[in-house]
Amino acid sequence: MTEPKKIVLLGATGSIGTSTLQVLRKHPDRLQLIGISANSNSQKLTEIVREFRVPYAYLPESAGFVEGIPAETTLDRSRDGLVHLASLAEADLVVVAIVGSSGLSPTLAALEAGKDIVLANKESLVLGGDLVMKTAQSNQARVLPADSEHNAIFQCIQGEDKRDLDSIILTASGGAFRDTPVEQLKDVTVKQALNHPNWSMGNKVTIDSATMANKGLELIEARWLFDLPPSKLEVVIHPTSVVHAMVRFVDGCCLAQLSPPSMTFALQHALLYPERAPGVHPSLDFSKPLDLHFSPPSLERFPCLRLAQESLTQGGSAPLVFNAANELAVDAFLLNRIGFLEISDIIYQTLSQFDHQPKNDLSTLLSLDSEARRIASVLIGPST
Ligand code: NAD
Ligand code: MG
Repeated sequence: MTEPKKIVLLGATGSIGTSTLQVLRKHPDRLQLIGISANSNSQKLTEIVREFRVPYAYLPESAGFVEGIPAETTLDRSRDGLVHLASLAEADLVVVAIVGSSGLSPTLAALEAGKDIVLANKESLVLGGDLVMKTAQSNQARVLPADSEHNAIFQCIQGEDKRDLDSIILTASGGAFRDTPVEQLKDVTVKQALNHPNWSMGNKVTIDSATMANKGLELIEARWLFDLPPSKLEVVIHPTSVVHAMVRFVDGCCLAQLSPPSMTFALQHALLYPERAPGVHPSLDFSKPLDLHFSPPSLERFPCLRLAQESLTQGGSAPLVFNAANELAVDAFLLNRIGFLEISDIIYQTLSQFDHQPKNDLSTLLSLDSEARRIASVLIGPST
């Protein structure tokens, strides 16, 4: 019997964190949790530390007082604590399940320490895809995709020659407003936007699904993970979220990966890779009718997808600016400060204020990210 892989889980209290813990509970003989981080939910952090007897934990000072952490656990609350945890000497695999651009620094820290990572935080690749992939390569560390579409592609290309790859096709559910008449989109509420038809996820990614900014970010993520030009990356609407992605080869054959819409399938695949084991949830039941409908997305209905595609084609820092403006606009929408359709307006106007020269070191990327956020927040206007 081999030793279990030692896992550090950054963003343990979120939606991906929770799905990761389900996989860890299922496979205690193969996966051992040795470090976790949270950003604000100290109670949940404590519960996880106690359940899994986690030796290392991180919670920033801003999260306030925390009680109930056992004496055997080292709780780091220092400024650099997250980066330290990401490069913990004992770790075999670091799961980056943080939301937003805050995932970039710990992702780089883990890779610089030579750790393989399971990457859910697509924003790391959107901000610094070139830097992240080069850092992985130079430290011989693997970036294992946890995003369901990218994990699906990763599964479909195993054993294939990259030169035989023609294109990849990401499926999208179409989110909460797939069938809403376009003229009604200006009046939709936060509650309606958070009502995703298939997936249960964090608020940010659920709004990103409703605007399809999420699929745009995923195109950018795919560009870096699979080193393909924008012309070879496609998106298709697939309402039931059963097919997660498809790969088309030069001979015209397509391979697809199918599983029910739970992130545990992709996460388990990445965590156990290259091994397989029984999953957390049952597989698809083909004795019941299954809808495998596909249709092209409307760029009129989903302007955020069009802006993301344009940012990807433009390259340089355009994806970073797209992401920063989107994060601020989504926060403002969640707080009822702007309407749903203003999310794409804010992104468009922020993008138009940059020249999109490529930037490739962490401090320049982070200062550009701050500048894009500053501009987007001016566009959003003061909170009342
Ligand atoms: P979430 O909001 O549910 O959880 C986010 C986690 O990140 C929490 O543990 C929180 O404590 C931590 N966090 C938040 N802000 C932070 C900061 N500034 N610094 C450090 N930690 C911080 O988000 P989620 O839905 O779990 O998504 C996480 C990532 O995975 C996102 O990048 C998302 O796009 C991606 N993703 C999510 C899903 C899904 O099903 N939820 C699917 C695919 C990809
Ligand atoms: Mg996805």
